[in-house]
Amino acid sequence: MLDGTPRNQPSLWTLAEGIPVARNDTINQISTASGGGHVLFTSTQLIEQLAHFSRERIPERVVHAKASAAWGQFEVTDDVSDLTDAAFLNGIGKKTEILARISTVGPERGSADTVRDFRGFAIKFKTEEGNNDWVFNNQPVFFVRNPAKFPSLNRSHKRHPTTNATDADMFWDFHVNSPESIHALMFLFGDRGLPKSVRHVNAYSGNTYKLTKADGSYHYARIHILSDQTVARLDNDEAAQLAGIDPDNHVLDLQHAISTGNYPTWTVYFQTIDPSESPEFPVFDMTKVWPHKRYPLRRVGRMTLNRNPANWFAEVEQAAFTPSNMVRGIEPSPDAMLQARMFAYPDAARYRLGVNYQFLPANAAKSQVHVPTERDGAMNFKGNYGGQPNYVGSGLTSVRFASERTETKVEVVDRVLEGPVSISTQVTEQDFVQPRALRRDVMSKQDGAQERFIENATGNIADVKSLRLRCEIYGKPACPGLWDWTNMSQHCSER
Ligand code: NDP
Repeated sequence: MLDGTPRNQPSLWTLAEGIPVARNDTINQISTASGGGHVLFTSTQLIEQLAHFSRERIPERVVHAKASAAWGQFEVTDDVSDLTDAAFLNGIGKKTEILARISTVGPERGSADTVRDFRGFAIKFKTEEGNNDWVFNNQPVFFVRNPAKFPSLNRSHKRHPTTNATDADMFWDFHVNSPESIHALMFLFGDRGLPKSVRHVNAYSGNTYKLTKADGSYHYARIHILSDQTVARLDNDEAAQLAGIDPDNHVLDLQHAISTGNYPTWTVYFQTIDPSESPEFPVFDMTKVWPHKRYPLRRVGRMTLNRNPANWFAEVEQAAFTPSNMVRGIEPSPDAMLQARMFAYPDAARYRLGVNYQFLPANAAKSQVHVPTERDGAMNFKGNYGGQPNYVGSGLTSVRFASERTETKVEVVDRVLEGPVSISTQVTEQDFVQPRALRRDVMSKQDGAQERFIENATGNIADVKSLRLRCEIYGKPACPGLWDWTNMSQHCSER
């Protein structure tokens, strides 16, 4: 049993520091002064319970607060040893335990699941070489490429400082002035912006990583995790109804599927660019995809979710996912958004869970952890490295280190780096090429997809109160037109 009581005996009820108590009913909790009526400070059991109750909530995630989650496994199905040394990606049939958390982005922890929004798709791989986290979205592109805009983007999707309600003016004001977001907006207002369930969403790295080998060779990579249940959507009306009568629909759908043995699976693919190539588009720009035809997907493995959490707070609310958790064989690229996220996510976890959040069972690595120069701090419930030196360079104890990572091979000429490494907020015609392809070549092949996109986008714009903003969105000749939803061009034609 969790509290150490032998299995055949009921648990002995105690105070929080183990002192057994005779009863746990309302009478026993309260000591009153003779004559009755006034509760005494000696009511330790009552005071302990009241005080603990007031402290039960920890800060909510500022984004990605509401989620579905489950444990599962990743299995290698194909050989990618020519690309990466990562142990968990090598050896066909090899399995690694994972924790997956699939969330909406803007709404709060108690909000409804069936809302139009991006989905975060975070996966923690508990590998033998330490934890590797992939903190992805269900869309291949993101709204901005300059990390300085990241907090503003998120605020514009959340609540207005005056009304405390979401606000179309704030939302569109941000996007009209950051038109590089048009590609992501098309996913948001397209069929993939309102998924049927979390079992029916893909996950994409969006960010560009490097897959590396010990000999110094590397490839740039994006990771695609495609749902074997296929991608499926909800109608707006159906979603609104579910949001009202069954707000935890996606959470419960995943739990039900797993508890009835209908385990959802995803297939994991790499899309790679050899550094000797020279793509004509900005490889490190999260607002763009890498075209499938030029960079086909290569299958790596299969992900299965097969175990529901036994305790939500311990296993999901206390879980922290951070893109900076990268094992040997995976490295950051010159993708500014990835680099900023590598700071922001662990920083958010330190604020939300405390500086020792990596000790929590959901986050604890399965492999050995030894960092005696990180110690003390709130809620340090480990041995804290006893008397071991807490400074670098000590000769008093012997420790081992991993072999140095090999520098990039000298003969590798990185032409990708010679291309545009774009964090520019300046918008060019290139920003409209892929959105146009999405509308013309992809949506056009799906019955009614273009019309649904226009209906969803314009339905949202209809809530904009500012006339000036409406004018800018639609690009009326009186204002400098920023974009045109019909033709997907930067400068509007006259209407
Ligand atoms: P492809 O025709 O090879 O790829 C199009 C991809 O679009 C499909 O493989 C599918 O991705 C995805 N898709 C299908 N239906 C929809 C939809 N209704 N809404 C959004 N995405 C959908 O062309 P390209 O690779 O040249 O890309 C063309 C456009 O497709 C891009 O500009 C981009 O907007 C979009 N796209 C591209 C992706 C990529 O990584 N290249 C990924 C997703 C979208 P999947 O198989 O991942 O479900």
